[in-house]
Amino acid sequence: MAFRLAAVNDRATLLVGAGPEPVTQGIDVERASGGSIGPDPMAALARHEELHALASAPPDVEVDEARLGCPVPSPGQVFAIGLNYRTHAEEAGLPVPDVPMVFTKFPSSICGPTADIELPSGAVDWEAELVVVIGSGGRDIAPHDALAHVAGFTGGQDVSERVVQFASTPAQFSMGKSYATFGPVGPAVVSCDSLADPDDVELWCEIDGERVQHGRTRDLIFGVPAIVAYLSSICELRPGDLVFTGTPAGVGFTRHPPRFLGPGELLVSHFEGIGTLRNRIRSR
Ligand code: ZN
Repeated sequence: MAFRLAAVNDRATLLVGAGPEPVTQGIDVERASGGSIGPDPMAALARHEELHALASAPPDVEVDEARLGCPVPSPGQVFAIGLNYRTHAEEAGLPVPDVPMVFTKFPSSICGPTADIELPSGAVDWEAELVVVIGSGGRDIAPHDALAHVAGFTGGQDVSERVVQFASTPAQFSMGKSYATFGPVGPAVVSCDSLADPDDVELWCEIDGERVQHGRTRDLIFGVPAIVAYLSSICELRPGDLVFTGTPAGVGFTRHPPRFLGPGELLVSHFEGIGTLRNRIRSR
């Protein structure tokens, strides 16, 4: 059975129901597993294969979707892929990469699906991205085995401070993407089998109701199997690691004039079959 893992009061909880109706009930993973899996969502992700069976246990938790925490609160490694949609490489005026362009968001930037995003400056930009959550780690994972190593998918915002991102020569992206609250993730980690087509997820984002990005992951230059194979050919992947897969066209800094996030705005990012991030922007 497919599962949707969320954090309710910081406890690993499987959401019941996945339709347009709001989720109101959940299954506490520690209780449903008879105590064999602890309450930390990271522990549940490491045992992702067992979550499928637990998803049919009786609900025992009331869920308020507006108060879900981060479903992957302490990833060991957070990889991100730059320029992974042709339309985004074109708007940035940069060549389409012929190997995956990898940087990190340091894990202290990760936050929950409804966390406020704090602005350190007036040059903060949005990037809605499908995020891969590693379940069973390893090295040298072949592309055809990649999804067996994936616990599921979630939504993410690769929030980016563009001055810091491009401050050095050559540019290094990681610091400008690692301020506190620059990595909203959620609202749930959905198992691969809960998506109609894990290779074609629609995603979009809006600022105060204005659609600024809209894409589909079938347009990724490097798809999830290729990314997992490439990363694991160099770095050992571990349970709970995150991979931000890249953003489609429509970011702010390439516009004429550039547009950045302002205090009071609401950034809404939606991922088909996964759910919605709602992040209010505020001054730090
Ligand atoms: Zn990005």
